Amino acid sequence: MRKSQVAPVITRFAPSPTGNLHVGSARTALFNFLFAKKHGGTFLLRIEDTDKERSKKEFEEDILAGLLWLGIAHDGEPVRQSERAEIYRTYLHKMIESGAAYEAEENQDKTGKVIRFKNPNIAVMFNDLIRGDISFDTIELGDFVIAKDRETPLYHLAAVVDDHETGITHIIRGEDHISNTPRQILIQEAIGAKRPFYAHIPLILAPDRSKLSKRHGAVSVSEYKKIGYLPDALVNFLALLGWNPGTDKEIFSIEELTAAFDIEKVQKGAAVFNEEKLKWMNREHLRALPHEEIAPMVLERLPEDLRAAAYANLDIGQKVLDRVILERIHVLSEVTALADAGEFSFYFSAPHVAREKIVWKKGTPEKTLAHLDKIANILHTASFESPDTIKAALSPYAEKEGRGEVLWPYRYALSGRDTSPDPFTISYVIGKQETIRRIQTARDLL
Ligand code: GLU
Repeated sequence: MRKSQVAPVITRFAPSPTGNLHVGSARTALFNFLFAKKHGGTFLLRIEDTDKERSKKEFEEDILAGLLWLGIAHDGEPVRQSERAEIYRTYLHKMIESGAAYEAEENQDKTGKVIRFKNPNIAVMFNDLIRGDISFDTIELGDFVIAKDRETPLYHLAAVVDDHETGITHIIRGEDHISNTPRQILIQEAIGAKRPFYAHIPLILAPDRSKLSKRHGAVSVSEYKKIGYLPDALVNFLALLGWNPGTDKEIFSIEELTAAFDIEKVQKGAAVFNEEKLKWMNREHLRALPHEEIAPMVLERLPEDLRAAAYANLDIGQKVLDRVILERIHVLSEVTALADAGEFSFYFSAPHVAREKIVWKKGTPEKTLAHLDKIANILHTASFESPDTIKAALSPYAEKEGRGEVLWPYRYALSGRDTSPDPFTISYVIGKQETIRRIQTARDLL
């Protein structure tokens, strides 16, 4: 058995509720989840809310909601450190009794005695599943403080007691916690706790290799949700930040990730957060969704009038979704932006058409009128099975007469817009009858 495969595996995600769920923390949670599930183990959630000033209920709620949305489901009820002070005190008092800790003169605000850990001043060595052997000389830590006073244990003691009491076998966390590990190991040894395996995962950096922060854009899971990323896409992307399965496969479901995940293949070096890649992945996941799942998500992002129009014309709505929206968007908020820019309304109702815009810049009204009549004629007998069949029917005429001269008035008559998708797609979406009607409207204007 490999060293990381002791059974049963118990991991935990231990966020401090001092901010919304950050994508970096979400990745830590995900790695803990994937590792536990891969080994048929348990994934626990512990809210580290001992810092009363900075911890907020709203952040805890955001973290829980974010994990739920991502599908990173913890087992059992979350544990809150703020509710466990009594347990930490019991350990603290035992440590004082056994001489592993002692009351020292005064604490910083000089109101009482702090409790210091009696440092045995040994070298601490641990094997990190990602980084290999790491050793620390603990002498420089001195007799560090583990409680503000007899009643108020501090963070490291609380974390070690919790990991011990909940039987955590593997601590997977950000590499910024490496320097906490020797202190925590010393405390473990003092209370007789078994040492868990450690895996310190690499930092996530922005493309400019600075620390990922707000100035690089969205950093919290709730922001990504709002922008219109799919949870499965974000999970897929986060899993590949610092880990890869060693194959070319890039699109994974959470189940596939669970099967493929290997903590020992996590890289040591920092991982770069590439938002373009995330967008691409989101697009792949969007396009892979069955129609009945994607349709409500898109409808929800449409303004009221367009949503009503789509319900009233289901056939057009479906074609707009398949041929226009899914062709163009990477994230769902683009649906709203495109709708607001008028990119969809002409599919559902005839656009306003300006006479002076119908004629191609090198064309004349007379010739354009003739072109429009001819197009209507050709389309009358053309197959509307797909945009391609429409294109095939019109191409010989457009090639002969000049693409711009023929296709501009045709496209403009359909959309009333200077830019829009190609006219074959629009015709396909709105259908033969409506196409011919719009062409006639334009030719009548001329
Ligand atoms: N509460 C710590 C954090 O949010 C986690 C520490 C740990 O995982 O041991 O970074």
